[in-house]
Amino acid sequence: MSVAVYNTLTRKKETFVPINPDRVVMYVCGPTVYNYAHIGNARPAVIFDLWRRVLERHYPEVVYARNITDVDDKINTAAAQQQVPISVISERFTRAYLEDMAALGVNPPTIAPKATEHMPEIIAMIEQLITTGNAYQAEQHVLFSVESFPAYGQLSRRDMREMLAGARVDVAPYKRHPGDFVLWKPSTGELPGWDSPWGYGRPGWHIECSAMAAKHLGKVIDIHGGGQDLVFPHHENEVAQSCCAHGETHFARYWLHNGFLQMDSRKMSKSLGNVVTVHELLQTWPGEVLRYVLLSAQYRQPLDWCEQALQQARKTLDRLYVTLRDHAAENTPSGEVPAAIIDALNDDLCTPKALAELNTLAKQLANAQDDQRRQLLTGQIKASGELLGILKQSPAAWFSAQKSDVDADKIDQLIADRNAARGAKDFARADRLRDALTDMGVIIEDGPTGTTWRVE
Ligand code: AMP
Ligand code: ZN
Repeated sequence: MSVAVYNTLTRKKETFVPINPDRVVMYVCGPTVYNYAHIGNARPAVIFDLWRRVLERHYPEVVYARNITDVDDKINTAAAQQQVPISVISERFTRAYLEDMAALGVNPPTIAPKATEHMPEIIAMIEQLITTGNAYQAEQHVLFSVESFPAYGQLSRRDMREMLAGARVDVAPYKRHPGDFVLWKPSTGELPGWDSPWGYGRPGWHIECSAMAAKHLGKVIDIHGGGQDLVFPHHENEVAQSCCAHGETHFARYWLHNGFLQMDSRKMSKSLGNVVTVHELLQTWPGEVLRYVLLSAQYRQPLDWCEQALQQARKTLDRLYVTLRDHAAENTPSGEVPAAIIDALNDDLCTPKALAELNTLAKQLANAQDDQRRQLLTGQIKASGELLGILKQSPAAWFSAQKSDVDADKIDQLIADRNAARGAKDFARADRLRDALTDMGVIIEDGPTGTTWRVE
């Protein structure tokens, strides 16, 4: 069974054929960590998390790199505004991003490279581009010469003349061509910087991804992903840098781009000010509800974010959990994901169809007449939930977490009992008590000052 992907490079749906079927390599542009991620930023994280899960069903190894852009002028501005060191901003929002994505059921990528930890690779790649005649130095900057790469514009289907006509008038005077872009720029004062052959400075955004992808995944990769807004200039520039530095005709063989998450029919973006952060949504909604909404549209289509969609997703999940609570065969382990769901996901990740199939399974379970059928359907629902990254809780935990009146006394008592059991080395009982807390949706953490708890 094959996987079909829509490739932005060819503008066609194609059968996915990896370079090495034993090891598929995929790179996705991650967040710039200067603020909380909005729910639009979460769309690629959730979508490519699911792509990775689907690919893992087909290939023995999928290496998935999603970077952290922790050197960027937006981070510098945020640090200056808040009067804190730059690392305080980037570390705070890296942590927040990882916590938010975990709440959305996004598994950690295989590799999460940070730009600041790759300066030698970035500098070496820029040196290589100067050697090959694709980059030049001007007024303490190093620029990529777009005219040196005849295929420039191929990914985004932009014509060089068109770009020239569209270029702004205030092009930096040291650029040979208005489309030339920065690989390295000088840093002064408080700005972060590194020593380089071109003086103290910092890299441009595009070269960071090219250098990190090459280091961790190789010169030519199978899949490169991100949101549609990255096709130009970011991905076009990544292609130019990587192909020229490595003497290859391709950087990624398949380019996958998610459509925009919109609010009131406009792209959610910080510059438009119509954002809602994952952090604030999680105060009101379980992460599974947010993930369900994000999966409710096929990933290349626009997705409108609204209260109604959230309520609908919560209702659907409630119904799925009720069905499992009332009809699932007891202690049934996870089974096989049914072919209809696999086929839908293999077809360019058609999540609306996969979710419709899952809801059909739940209806069939509610109407099942015998234990054998109940067992089969329960196993199928559990396995499908695992693949899609939903239905991760027990029905009891799901419904108890929705209640705001947490029984703190009971939780404290269970924790005290567990600590007593641990003291008496009765680890089986301690584990049972921990499980009971987990079922209530309570997460406990053992620290030097004792055990703390929070509701999931
Ligand atoms: P940024 O931190 O702005 O570089 O964005 C991180 C990721 O989120 C990139 O892959 C963007 O393409 C993606 N992204 C940003 N805004 C949206 C949106 N409204 N809908 C879908 N994806 C988005
Ligand atoms: Zn990138």
